[in-house]
Amino acid sequence: MRPIVATISRSALQHNLAVAKQHAPHSKIMAVVKANGYGHGLLNVARCLNAADGFAVLGVNEAVILREAGYQQTILLLEGVFRAEELAKAAELGLDVVVHSKMQIEILLNASLTKPLHVHLKMNSGMNRLGFTPDAYAAAYQALNLSKNVAGITLMTHFATADKEPGIAAPLQVFEKTIKELPANLPVSLANSATILRHSYLRADWVRPGIMLYGASTVSGMPATAFGLKPVMQLSSEIIAVQTIAAGESIGYGNRFTATQATRIGIVACGYADGYPRHAGLLGDQHPHGAPIAVSGKVTRTLGRVSMDMLFCDITDIPEADIGSPVELWGRQVPVDAVAEAADTVGYELLCAVAARVPIKMTD
Ligand SMILES: *Cc1c(COP(=O)(O)O)cnc(C)c1O
Repeated sequence: MRPIVATISRSALQHNLAVAKQHAPHSKIMAVVKANGYGHGLLNVARCLNAADGFAVLGVNEAVILREAGYQQTILLLEGVFRAEELAKAAELGLDVVVHSKMQIEILLNASLTKPLHVHLKMNSGMNRLGFTPDAYAAAYQALNLSKNVAGITLMTHFATADKEPGIAAPLQVFEKTIKELPANLPVSLANSATILRHSYLRADWVRPGIMLYGASTVSGMPATAFGLKPVMQLSSEIIAVQTIAAGESIGYGNRFTATQATRIGIVACGYADGYPRHAGLLGDQHPHGAPIAVSGKVTRTLGRVSMDMLFCDITDIPEADIGSPVELWGRQVPVDAVAEAADTVGYELLCAVAARVPIKMTD
């Protein structure tokens, strides 16, 4: 067995769920567990988040896994169904479905279902991705409201700039103005993690935290720990070889790092086939010194180009490091967001990209 492992902390997940509740004390929590629980394992995270009021996924297949494991909470298909045939299965499983398009209305109205479905009707309040524009929203509501296939309707939108300026004021105003034309007191579903953290106590029946549950940052330049969140995943491995090179010698494919002095190099059993970003630390002048990485509990930097199964790091100043020394690729010492920044991406992408070949281990 290679020494690489993703260790998932149950208590960190539960702690982060509690942080979401603190920020949205009057809302139900729809824990977003799409993308295999943001790379942590769907059932691993569902088990720790059983106190959530609902789970949000993308595919009927994920909902089947949750129902078969006994979860009776609300389960929401975040993009609704993709084909008419999925509606029968959604009804059988008692799923909630997003409705964001005319096509979805049409197939829902024409379906013959064993049970009506609860619909989350999505408004496009300015993100211009999914949903009905404000001027088409009331008509979409009326069409659904008349249907025997619809058990109830939650009003939903999603914000594009909750994590930075200009914030959510304008789209929220669009949303609120539009729903004033509809019956009062319909349930509302509003907030992703950035919205929950930056706009606590928003009036919403449902909030939809994702990334914050996994202890990573939603906000560019704002570490997750600043919000009291705990990292859930530690991606760890070991040093499997050590090289000492002289000034002028290079390492790895393309010789992307050349030593300017005698340098001790640790070879780590982790590469891009494990989900580590290949270009981490190689973004021109921006990150000439690699991405952060911890060896034997000390933070150092990666060097050179990441290979498929291995990467290099500088252990010149960690003389105790040797074959078998523990390495944290990301976790408590090295925030996933710091590695993401060195690869010009976000923690979301790195977590979701952890490869299937990396074993997952649960810990308290
Ligand atoms: C993924 C998703 C979320 C969760 O977003 P985070 O930024 O991870 O909190 C919430 N709502 C919708 C509609 C989503 O697709």
